[in-house]
Amino acid sequence: MSSSPQVLVVGGGPGGASAAFWLARQGADVTLVEKKRYPREKACGDGLTPRAVRQLVDMGFDFDRPDVHRIVGLRSYAGDVMLEMPWPEHSVYPNWGATLRRSDLDGRVAALAEAEGATVLQGVEAVAVVENGDLTGVELRRKGEETQVVTPQYVVVADGSLSRFGRQLGTYRRRDYPFGLAVRGYWESPNSTDGYIESQLDIRDREGRAMPGYGWVFPMGDGTINIGAGLVSTFKGWKDVNTSRILDAYLAELPEHWQIAENPISRPIGGKLPMALSVGPKTGRNWVLVGDAAGAVNPFNGEGIDYAYETGRLAAGIIVDALATGDAATLSRYDEALEAEYAAYHRVARIFASAIGNPTIMHTLTTVGLRSRPLMEWVLKVMANLLEPEEQGMAEHVYVALERAVSLPGLRRIKA
Ligand SMILES: Cc1cc2nc3c(=O)[nH]c(=O)nc-3n(C[C@H](O)[C@H](O)[C@H](O)COP(=O)(O)OP(=O)(O)OC[C@H]3O[C@@H](n4cnc5c(N)ncnc54)[C@H](O)[C@@H]3O)c2cc1C
Repeated sequence: MSSSPQVLVVGGGPGGASAAFWLARQGADVTLVEKKRYPREKACGDGLTPRAVRQLVDMGFDFDRPDVHRIVGLRSYAGDVMLEMPWPEHSVYPNWGATLRRSDLDGRVAALAEAEGATVLQGVEAVAVVENGDLTGVELRRKGEETQVVTPQYVVVADGSLSRFGRQLGTYRRRDYPFGLAVRGYWESPNSTDGYIESQLDIRDREGRAMPGYGWVFPMGDGTINIGAGLVSTFKGWKDVNTSRILDAYLAELPEHWQIAENPISRPIGGKLPMALSVGPKTGRNWVLVGDAAGAVNPFNGEGIDYAYETGRLAAGIIVDALATGDAATLSRYDEALEAEYAAYHRVARIFASAIGNPTIMHTLTTVGLRSRPLMEWVLKVMANLLEPEEQGMAEHVYVALERAVSLPGLRRIKA
């Protein structure tokens, strides 16, 4: 790169690619740097909800390619109790989702940003140059080459859940907010074209004791399925169990229709899920956090791809305004925009995450809930953040209704 771009995006996952795409679309001079090379592996369930599909459609993503597998809904298990629910009809979002390996998805979205005019540099690691707490430049390190220092006007920090670049700027995660851990692997399965993603909410160890976690199967449509397990920090005993043990227990009881081979295609890998916008500060004088670097994962369902796209897009719009007005103070509008978009939803989600951390409540919700289709269809809408605009003021009512649904006074004591 010969000179400094107006905007530098650190990280080429969903958050960075979306920010670069929308910055370039609005005429900004933007460079995205990704330390790895596409196709790069990412620990992920590879599941795209209707919200994520909408973001991708807006960026011109081609969903007709044969390796994109369409998903019509969710099949949810609590032990042997099962309910199959199609994605809801919605005025804004499609009624379908998809699966696609992240190793393919992320490079393709970065290519869309490039086609829009962004410069995409792979194999380049960004390191912040910080003086007296202020970001004054960025070192770009490429193997075997001399380090280059650039001084962009604005930096989008999209470097994922570990966010080393963000930590250099003084960002930290709120420990009182929920936090997830998950692991996934790929297995061969003759049923990989199944149109439903699947979840198991009641995982038991060999002795039949409930384990604090959940499992999923996301069919990939290519002869393989993505099987994973996760847990949230609000679950009782979460520190005493690791995600690989939950995955093993889940695999031992996996529904027969998947007919998996004994061994995965490759060793399962895991990662962290910072939730409910738990990382901050979200902005500095000349930088903003997006995606996992901001802790944007939805605590209801562990979904982070869509929220990385959404926050990347939101940040891009605000940076474009700041470039136009020449007023860096415009960046603080990003915090306000995040608050307006997600605060009410996350408040309910945090209560929900605390509630399901109580095994009795979790058990009641899953076993009683799964027997009621209307209740569960509604819960699915809430968990995937697919309420209609006029329903959104209902966030608090959702909690009250959940409380009524399980009739457990203990829920009342849980604070947001
Ligand atoms: C096991 C697991 C399963 C999951 N399943 C799902 C799912 O099915 N659906 C879903 O929606 N979400 C899922 N998530 C969450 C989802 O993976 C993340 O929320 C999402 O990847 C966040 O996107 P991001 O762009 O913020 O970060 P990332 O996707 O992590 O991208 C960050 C990028 O930055 C690059 N980078 C880091 N540091 C630097 C640097 N200094 N310089 C240059 N580049 C750098 C990295 O190489 C990486 O490519 C899952 C997470 C885990 C761990």
